[in-house]
Amino acid sequence: MKPKDFPKDIQPYIIPQPSGELIYRCLGCGNDFDIQSLLYTCPDCRQVLLIYDRSFSRLQKIPGKIWHRIFDYRKMLSLSALKGIYRYHEFVGSVMPLASIIYLGEAHTPMIEANSRLQEAAGIRFFFKNEGQNPSASFKDRGMASALSYINFLVQQGLVTEVLAVCASTGDTSAAAALYAAYLNPHVKSAVLLPHKKVTPQQLSQPLGNGAAVFEIPGVFDDCMKVVEHLSEHYNVALLNSKNAWRILGQESYSYEISQDFEFDLSDKVVVVPIGNAGNITAIMNGFLKFYDAGIINNLPKILGVQSRHANPVYRYYSEPNAAQRKFVPMTVKPSVAQAAMIGNPVSMPRVIHLVDLYNRLAGIQKVFFCEVSEQEIMDWELLANRNGHIACTHGGESLAGLVAAKKQGLIADHESAVVDSTAHALKFSGFQQMYFDRQFPADYRIRPDPSLINAPVLVRPGDLEKIPAPGKPLVGGELKQFVERVSAEIAQILELNGSKYTGR
Ligand SMILES: *Cc1c(COP(=O)(O)O)cnc(C)c1O
Ligand SMILES: [Zn+2]
Repeated sequence: MKPKDFPKDIQPYIIPQPSGELIYRCLGCGNDFDIQSLLYTCPDCRQVLLIYDRSFSRLQKIPGKIWHRIFDYRKMLSLSALKGIYRYHEFVGSVMPLASIIYLGEAHTPMIEANSRLQEAAGIRFFFKNEGQNPSASFKDRGMASALSYINFLVQQGLVTEVLAVCASTGDTSAAAALYAAYLNPHVKSAVLLPHKKVTPQQLSQPLGNGAAVFEIPGVFDDCMKVVEHLSEHYNVALLNSKNAWRILGQESYSYEISQDFEFDLSDKVVVVPIGNAGNITAIMNGFLKFYDAGIINNLPKILGVQSRHANPVYRYYSEPNAAQRKFVPMTVKPSVAQAAMIGNPVSMPRVIHLVDLYNRLAGIQKVFFCEVSEQEIMDWELLANRNGHIACTHGGESLAGLVAAKKQGLIADHESAVVDSTAHALKFSGFQQMYFDRQFPADYRIRPDPSLINAPVLVRPGDLEKIPAPGKPLVGGELKQFVERVSAEIAQILELNGSKYTGR
């Protein structure tokens, strides 16, 4: 639809112009810094930053009802810059001219209601939001669209040239970074650091395919992160980890989409998210807070952060009920099938502490909760979800397991319903499914496969057949007929099919 065909009162808003006064704000000392430079931590006190809009009040002047219509009408535009996270331009990087925006098909992922069987098993009404349907098959694309659009903006202004973008990754950050950087070839090149043997073959293939320089480092993610921090402090590189506040900004779009999908009514809603480096839960809280502040939503949904017992530093921190006595202690992680969240020292922890406090205060009651789940629960719920028509990854299983646990603990009431984040596509982590089916899990995962969830292919090779087809060596005539009949008979026997055909009624 063309802008001139929109209702008169919406027309002035439909195509956003660069606006706002964005700054980095330090969560430690509260100082503001110019966004013209690439900054990741406070130059004064080393704390992490978030991006704020000093002229946010201009957005509060537009009534919530008008915002609803702006976002709904923007769905009808065929302008590619506004098809992804920048449908919410005013909230995800309002200084960006549309000509700088990189859109590779990210965001607006489907929200799929679980079937009644799975909802019954879980004990609650819920939807999966399929973040695996992003271009690099995880939610990380949201933040990369933002970070790389911003780098593109700086390149176009001549403020930076020949950018080398680096990140440490449990797999999906590097896949997304390499993809978006490759699109900006030759102005941007990417280098990614991965913990050796701690990313899946599918994840490793992604940055390789997109032409990134890929480095495998001994240890776990937390070790890679230290190296990348050192690189960004001593060399001229652009950091693409979620320390980069532009990543957080882009990931806030997740909350805006959930708001819009529920027609901006979030009463009795619970948003469930797995936690690794804690960038995503930071973005999700911040996103809802901004929409709430602007009067676009009238309720803050409940947030449930889920961690595996093998990597649960955030859960441990909040398990101390007395806020004054909480102390953050980084932990040594154990192997987890929620491998992309296997992080013992999340870089966004200070952001989480700041935002959880703010969120609960604004809501007037506790609205942010945390829970932990076992590796067994993660795998069982992932497999059960996918047996009911989903494409959940292990982290989707982790989220769902957390929802079930929280419901049992009474953190969630019967009348509430949930949106469960399946943060990546099942295919990225199919190796864990295979270990489960093959009963081959190393002991330290402590997973015992449930026979009812195991599946395996059956090779149909009738022993009495002398000739079988092979590539380039087809059977013909009577031999082919015999082969087809014998194989069919064997399949029919295994499936216990009877001889009467469907009548086609
Ligand atoms: C990165 C990632 C997470 C963890 O998100 P954080 O922002 O690091 O907390 C969870 N699941 C998947 C699939 C991921 O790639
Ligand atoms: Zn500071």
